[in-house]
Amino acid sequence: METELVDRTTEGSLKRARMARRQLKVVKLIEPDMCLECRFAQMASVELKDGTIQRMIHCRRLDCDNWDYSTAETAKGVRVDDDAA
Ligand SMILES: [Zn+2]
Repeated sequence: METELVDRTTEGSLKRARMARRQLKVVKLIEPDMCLECRFAQMASVELKDGTIQRMIHCRRLDCDNWDYSTAETAKGVRVDDDAA
């Protein structure tokens, strides 16, 4: 029952959702700045269906309502950055 999301801060402002287990989704952010300030967010490298790697924000907030699921797209993998500087 875990849910994780990733936002993309570039023009598309995409966000990725991990609904169950390994299922990862990229979805649009309604208000990108909102999740940027969210303390549940981390930068991550996301591998899309076509193998492209995109930098996105990984939002782990379960009750975040800033997501537009109508554009959800499956993604292959995610690697979250380490926080260590
Ligand atoms: Zn969020």
